[in-house]
Formats: sequence, C-alpha cells, structure tokens
Amino acid sequence: MSPCESDVKQIDYLIVLKKKSKTADTSNADSGRDTLEICGPDTPAAQADAILQDDFARRLLASLPVSIFVLCLVSRDLIYSNRALSEELGYDHAPAAQVDEIEALIHPDDRESIYLVEQVLERSEAGARTNFEFRLRHADGTWRWFAGVATVFERDAYGHPNSLVGVSADITNAKLAEEELRYDAGHDSLTGLLNRRRFVAELSTRIATSVSPIALCLCDIDHFKSVNDSYGHAAGDEALSAFAQVMRTNVRREDIVARLGGDEFCVLVPGLSASDAKTMIERIRHEFSRKEFAIENEHFSVTASFGIADIVSGMTVAQFLQSADDALYHAKACGRNEVSLFAAQIC
Ligand code: GH3
Ligand code: MG
Repeated sequence: MSPCESDVKQIDYLIVLKKKSKTADTSNADSGRDTLEICGPDTPAAQADAILQDDFARRLLASLPVSIFVLCLVSRDLIYSNRALSEELGYDHAPAAQVDEIEALIHPDDRESIYLVEQVLERSEAGARTNFEFRLRHADGTWRWFAGVATVFERDAYGHPNSLVGVSADITNAKLAEEELRYDAGHDSLTGLLNRRRFVAELSTRIATSVSPIALCLCDIDHFKSVNDSYGHAAGDEALSAFAQVMRTNVRREDIVARLGGDEFCVLVPGLSASDAKTMIERIRHEFSRKEFAIENEHFSVTASFGIADIVSGMTVAQFLQSADDALYHAKACGRNEVSLFAAQIC
C-alpha cells in the first residue's frame, strides 16, 4: 500500500494550494492563477487520491536530489525547475521564478547546444532522449557546467516538440580537472610555455597549412651546467624562467614560444623569413644577456645561443628542427651568445 492510499482513508480535511505556474499551454486562461483544492469527508476517494497524488508528485519532484527542468520551446521560458537546480545555481527559489528566458541563464557560447537538442528531438521517435552539456549562470555570476539528458515533454497538434524535460548534474569540478589535465599535457610547468609535444603538433599543422614564409629559431642557454653547479639548481630554474619571460615579452602575438626540454627553447615565427626574424631574436639575446641574477651576495649573468632556419617547401617537422639545430650548433661554435642563420651559417 502506498503512503498516499493510507492517507486517503484517514483524511478529515485536506487543503491543497496549487501555486500559479507558467505552463507551455498559453491557451488556458486559468494557468496563471493560484488555486485551492479542498477535500473533506464527502470528497470521493478517487478525487482525494488524485489531489494527494498531485501533491505527492510535486513534493517528490521538489525533493529529488537531481536537477530537473522543463523548458518551453515556444516562449523559451524555463517553466519548471526543482529545488536541486535552485541549490546548485545558488538561488533561494527556483530559477524558473527568477529567470524568464533560458537565454538569460545559459552561457552565450552554449545556446547553440539547446537548438541542437531541439533539432535532434524534433526528428526523433517519441520517447527518444539526447545528452547535453552546457553552462548555466550561478546566482553569484559565475558559470557552472551541467551535463544531463533531455526528452520531449509535450508536443503540439502537429507532433512538434513544445517543451523539453531534462535532468542534469553539476559537472563543473570534473570539467575544471579535465581542463587542468589538458593544460598540463601541453605546457611546461616551470615556465608555463608550450612543451615539446604541443609545439611539435603546432609546428606540423603550420607546415601543412601555411603558404607564407616561416622561420624557426632554436635557443639553448650557454654553459648552463656550470650555472647549476656554481649557483644551485634553484638559481638555474630562475634563469630558465627569466629566459622564458624575455622571450614572451619580445615576440609578436602570432609567434609561438615553447620550452623543448632542459635549457632548450624555441620560437616559431610565422610570416617572416629567418633573416627578417633575426632582429627580434637579437633583441631577445641582448635583453637576456643584460639580466643580472643574485644568489646571496653573488651576482651573475647568463647568455644564450640561437639558430634560425627558413622553412623550405616539402620539409618535414624533423628536417625543419634539424636545420634550426644546425644553425644553433654554429652559434655555439662561434663562441656562444650569438644568433646564427642556417643558410648563411655566419655568426
Ligand atoms: P652549452 O653551452 O653547450 O649548451 O652547455 P650547457 O652546460 O648548457 O650544456 P647543456 O645544454 O647540454 O646542459 C643542459 C643542462 O640543463 C643539463 C641539466 O643539468 C640542466 N637542466 C635541465 N633541466 C633543468 C631544469 O629544469 N632546471 C635546472 N636548474 N637545470 C636543468
Ligand atoms: Mg645549454
């Protein structure tokens, strides 16, 4: 026996306040009013049961520990949302009562996904459901990621979806963790620059798609082992970070800087030939060599060597890197703290 059935038998008077609610059906003039329904000893059991069931269903929806919403596709109003969704979004009351248009609640970049859900369900069989992911605005102004599943709630006389019902869960923390992992997979933790893996992927895309010249510069800190040996690993790390910062501040927005590993860095210079890129690289070399580092009372400076190569039609990533490395080798051989061009092989 359900709790509702036992309640019906013992009832003296039951008053149910049906709060006004927006519905997708705008043709019903009563839909906007609060109503009271009263059951007494003379109320037929079936009617009292229906009222109780209605109230039971409402309380059930409100207390379910999963977010539920109903979206009217005609007015684009959120016509129902339960307590779980209010709590997850930081509202005192249902966001349906505070936010009229779903567009005000959903992230502008994710609005398209609502239309996709609609389109998929429009074409689907009755009872079909589709998964979704989008960001909703929290009451504190931040965006929270939600993932869930939606299905058609009501259809019009022609069978087109009028409203959607969906359940969803807040996946913001999982999204952040995923983003962090993706970032870590492509970046060097000490300098924040791209790492070798991500740089090589970027380089191979550029080589495949670019029609303009591209210069590639490889850089390597000079006598870095002795920096570590003389001043310690932490001082070495400081010099690596400083070098990354000098590079970052001297390249153009479209250039791509990376740490390939150890004391080896590189910068991809799209749209410029190696000789045109040399001015910028000289500026990096000069600025870094003038930096002063201090460990206790000892002051020291560090230099770096640079090799620049031009892309040649049909070159692979490995060949391009090799050309720049040959130029770098030449810069080291010329005495270090030098910029060398691959073709000219002059310091
Ligand atoms: P060269 O002028 O010929 O480049 O001489 P070098 O001493 O710089 O030789 P090399 O480039 O081969 O040395 C790289 C050194 O960088 C070796 C390694 O101990 C050090 N190193 C690699 N990664 C790190 C790091 O993350 N932090 C610090 N402090 N040192 C590192
Ligand atoms: Mg070195």
